[in-house]
Amino acid sequence: MFRTHTCGELNLNHLNEKVTLSGWVSVIRDKGFMIWIDLRDRYGITQLIIDEERSDKSLLETARNLGREFVIQATGTVIERASKNPNIPTGEIEILVEKLEILNESKLPPFTIEDKTDGGEELRMQYRYLDIRRNPVKEKLIFRHKVAQEVRKYLSDKEFIEVETPVLIKSTPEGARDFVVPSRMNPGQFYALPQSPQTFKQLMMVGGLDKYFQIVKCFRDEDLRADRQPEFTQIDCEMAFVEQEDILHIFEGLTKHLLKSVHNLEMEKFPRMTYDEAMRKYGNDKPDIRFGMEFHELDDLAKGKGFDIFDKEELVVGISAPTLNSYTRKDIDRLLEWVQRPQIGARGFVWVRVNEDGTFKSSADKFYTEENLAAFAQRMNAQKGDLMIIMAGKANETRKQLSALRMELAERLELRKPNEFAPLWVVDFPLLEWDEETNRWHAMHHPFTSPKPEDIAKLKTNPGEIRANAYDLVLNGNEIGGGSIRIYDKELQSQMFELLGFTPEQAQEQFGFLMNAFQYGAPPHGGIAFGFDRLVSILDGSETIRDYIAFPKNNSGRDVMIDAPSLIDQSQLDELEISLKGK
Ligand code: ASP
Repeated sequence: MFRTHTCGELNLNHLNEKVTLSGWVSVIRDKGFMIWIDLRDRYGITQLIIDEERSDKSLLETARNLGREFVIQATGTVIERASKNPNIPTGEIEILVEKLEILNESKLPPFTIEDKTDGGEELRMQYRYLDIRRNPVKEKLIFRHKVAQEVRKYLSDKEFIEVETPVLIKSTPEGARDFVVPSRMNPGQFYALPQSPQTFKQLMMVGGLDKYFQIVKCFRDEDLRADRQPEFTQIDCEMAFVEQEDILHIFEGLTKHLLKSVHNLEMEKFPRMTYDEAMRKYGNDKPDIRFGMEFHELDDLAKGKGFDIFDKEELVVGISAPTLNSYTRKDIDRLLEWVQRPQIGARGFVWVRVNEDGTFKSSADKFYTEENLAAFAQRMNAQKGDLMIIMAGKANETRKQLSALRMELAERLELRKPNEFAPLWVVDFPLLEWDEETNRWHAMHHPFTSPKPEDIAKLKTNPGEIRANAYDLVLNGNEIGGGSIRIYDKELQSQMFELLGFTPEQAQEQFGFLMNAFQYGAPPHGGIAFGFDRLVSILDGSETIRDYIAFPKNNSGRDVMIDAPSLIDQSQLDELEISLKGK
């Protein structure tokens, strides 16, 4: 038997018991006549003691040959510690060692296995298995497990069944690029890895399974923006005989259940906002509503006063940033540079100080009187000490730029509190968006999303105005879930494909299986998928999903630990009948 207890469980209740522990050597303190070893496993740390008086001489010898991260087994008696450590559950006891065995030696680890390590990100990723020994990493994985269990519990209680769907599937356009896998048995043909189990879950509804979920890996070959992973996990769900309201109800329930079970928080009914409202008020379809700084449109107040920069633009819109009147001219200039960076791409902004004495000072004083500025302040509900920041330009662009600034200021003002949770539903998304590059309509969610019934007539006349039966769940400024009510009528689905630029042949070729299935009694259905990695990280007060993935990829999509992707042998290529360009 390797152990009678774990390294996290012994305390004064176990005094004088004979125990055996196994684990890793975390720290050794050698006082000559006495040696202490901190023994670590997943459950905690227990102090071992070996001394000249009470222990066998050979034990001191063995202990002196130990190095950090050696795997050892120790047998001894639980005794009360002379100097106690109130910070750990085992801090009142130690083990007086009688037998010590080295189970495995360890090379000196490339960084210290401690909560605050000296190892940089790259090094820790390369030795991720060592990083996982550290509490902060290990605890995040345990937290993820806990959330997954609660998801399974909630959905199973509601009669959802977990069904696995295939990973080698057919390439279907869902917005991102597919990862593809060559088929040896079918030379020249390729499987695609699923971007999501979308069509399968819909086919399960045709199959009568009624309520499906799966915690499932999805794959998207996208350029990696910060905090995206090429393979990630979804809580994927689908239900039959439901309307949007039914789905929002069940999954609001799931989110509440998670907040209750992990943080003991009771949440009120989640607010709802239309896509239009979210864009107008926050310039963003996933607004962080933990803080204000809402947008206020100023066209009627700001235009027509001879200020060219505002007069000729489509939209003049501003936010009032609390306490930022404290910014010096230099600070403001730096903020200007920040919005002018190519990532944001704004031309600039006009600022208005709201002074403590009620006066205003602005960068466009030449054009606006005190009364004009007071009217701005009133519209924006600006308080003394605020700095109003006003942008102008094309409506959509300007909103996006101001939204980026709003989020940046919220970070600087520490208004994005990690332990505060502000969920909301964003509903009534447009069904389609016009893509300037390809000059055609794209499905904003995916091609299987149903238009709102009252908007179907616009399919022929005004596709841009059609609203979708689609919804996103937003938490703290992040989209954590999104879904839709689906089209289940073959005719409407073909019409949709046509609008998206598929010829009937292409539609049949790519989605024949789905449209054929719709001819066999497809029930009305809809669903949602949560980004599980992101959900877990936000629930834990973080926005770094990589920390919640045991073996994540870096920004260039590489696993630096196993060194993937990698070249493959010529013989493998030959077998697949693949030749590489230029070889
Ligand atoms: N499959 C969709 C997605 O991955 C979610 C859904 O519509 O259920 O975004």
